[in-house]
Amino acid sequence: MSGLERRRFDALVIGAGGAGLRAALSLARADAHVAVVSKVFPTRSHTVAAQGGINAALANVTADNWHWHMYDTVKGSDFLGDQDAIEYMCRAAAHLVVELEHAGIPFSRLPDGRIYQRPFGGQSQNFGGAQAARTCAAADRTGHALLHTLYQQNLRARTHFFDEYFAIDLLRDEQGYILGALVLEIETGELLVIEAKSTLIATGGAGQLFRTNTNAHINTGDGLAMVLRAGIPLEDMEFFQFHPTGIAGKGMLISEGVRGEGGYLVNGAGERFMERYAPKAHDLASRDVVSRAIYQEVAEGRGCGAQRDHVLLKLEHLGEEVIAKRLPGIREMVQTFLHVDPLHHPIPVYPTAHYTMGGIPTNRHGQVVVPLGAGEETIPGLYAIGECACVSVHGANRLGGNSLLDIVVFGRAAGNHIIEFLKEQRTHRPLPPESLERALERLQRWDRRGEGESVDGLRRALQETMERHCGVFRSEAVLLEGLSKVREIRDRLAHAILKDHSRIFNTARIEALELENLVELGIATLVSALGRTESRGAHSRIDYPERDDRHWLKHSLYYLEGERLEFKPVRLKPISVDTIPPAERVY
Ligand SMILES: Cc1cc2nc3c(=O)[nH]c(=O)nc-3n(C[C@H](O)[C@H](O)[C@H](O)COP(=O)(O)OP(=O)(O)OC[C@H]3O[C@@H](n4cnc5c(N)ncnc54)[C@H](O)[C@@H]3O)c2cc1C
Repeated sequence: MSGLERRRFDALVIGAGGAGLRAALSLARADAHVAVVSKVFPTRSHTVAAQGGINAALANVTADNWHWHMYDTVKGSDFLGDQDAIEYMCRAAAHLVVELEHAGIPFSRLPDGRIYQRPFGGQSQNFGGAQAARTCAAADRTGHALLHTLYQQNLRARTHFFDEYFAIDLLRDEQGYILGALVLEIETGELLVIEAKSTLIATGGAGQLFRTNTNAHINTGDGLAMVLRAGIPLEDMEFFQFHPTGIAGKGMLISEGVRGEGGYLVNGAGERFMERYAPKAHDLASRDVVSRAIYQEVAEGRGCGAQRDHVLLKLEHLGEEVIAKRLPGIREMVQTFLHVDPLHHPIPVYPTAHYTMGGIPTNRHGQVVVPLGAGEETIPGLYAIGECACVSVHGANRLGGNSLLDIVVFGRAAGNHIIEFLKEQRTHRPLPPESLERALERLQRWDRRGEGESVDGLRRALQETMERHCGVFRSEAVLLEGLSKVREIRDRLAHAILKDHSRIFNTARIEALELENLVELGIATLVSALGRTESRGAHSRIDYPERDDRHWLKHSLYYLEGERLEFKPVRLKPISVDTIPPAERVY
């Protein structure tokens, strides 16, 4: 074991999506010695796929200010979001978008040269009034522009990249300090120990939990599972966002930007049904609302197509010019996957798993926080940001365009906090051998040979179970059955082998490790969903259809040990303004 190669850094960033790269940029510019580890080449991180845009109250198209953005985000979260973090994010937004523009993002423009903004779901003027247009976009390829810009800025700032290295587990000592991570170079299979004074987790979401999803194959929630194994709980895992408009049966995302530009949904009778579900906002209601509406239309026999199993998204009326200018990527994608031109044919859509609202509990500096007695404590040197974190700005339902904002706001905040932390923490803490052994054991289990079930089919089994038992609508009986099925999959996985007996490829080992991560997160999601006996945001219980603020204005915390739940109150107090009190949520 002493033969393992070791490297030392001030800061280790696990994940090279927008969140990790924004934090790394602050660190590298402050002359910290920073390493970024990513299991894919940085610009292939899922951030690259973001289409619609990033929210900031620039007021370029409609009147706007950050107070309205804050109100919409709190309401969108179904009042589960922490209002101090939401205020912090919405106030920082305009400054950070302008900073991104200066860093090189080619935002779409208005005729007068200012940044173009499109209307998105859940956006309003004047605290719930007329529709606002708050989403800044680079056509329908905003994430692509953002990720490439941040990557290039990092190259210039001399951030050290470990591309195509897989983080297996965190290294920690008996006192609970995180000392870095054990990583595997995917191409060669060589192991590397990265010791760091501070570790930042930015590993993205876990959309691969579900069969039909908009996420990349790599979005397996590795960072969330690492944190669980380190004894840290995960927050609000019952809240998983189903995006209303995935390509039916396939899951690829059709951006909310399509409805923002004027596209609308119709059912099998040709009716614009959203007018019934959201009398004011119609097709631009919050995502949870639109997903439930589509689900209900189909369940009640008003779907489209031979099987009546989807609805249609119409955009033919927008005309060629708008589509070519604002939605070129969508048109190309529909042509590729459906072989029709959305200029002439509506797009068949159905809700699809999209975004992990829950995650690693943090405060607004990105520090990981855990309960201690009646209060909380931070884990020195450990940070989490982006989709893997739960700060919580999205609460029970994220608004479109707020995630790209979240990753740059809290990427910067965490970077700045780590710079201060490093001024105090001048040396590396010693790495005890046991911590390495624990991480190595995880890998060595997948060296076993012999007879047994292969890992391959189990990912599919997990995804189908989660889709069927933990989807848009939930109930105790269905969740319980799902939980016992996922536990059975976990047992089978513990005895499974890799298919290729003679030569174990690293990619096969990595898929097995990813599946172990997903299975633990599936159980976390089901247990948390069973625990919450109310309906709020994306979590809809048919057996508890009402929101219950008296008992449930609190976040869940799931612990791996004993698969148990604890709870902590929502932070209703913002930093400088008045609390936005929970109220009925209508669109
Ligand atoms: C199709 C799609 C469209 C979207 N559109 C929008 C939009 O228009 N607006 C918006 O606000 N949001 C949008 N979102 C959401 C938003 O893009 C994401 O939430 C956000 O980009 C996540 O960024 P991240 O940096 O946290 O994670 P990611 O970009 O997912 O990056 C995760 C990183 O972690 C690395 N990693 C993970 N596990 C390991 C491991 N074990 N070892 C080493 N490295 C690891 C990966 O290699 C990757 O570099 C969209 C999401 C999808 C899927």
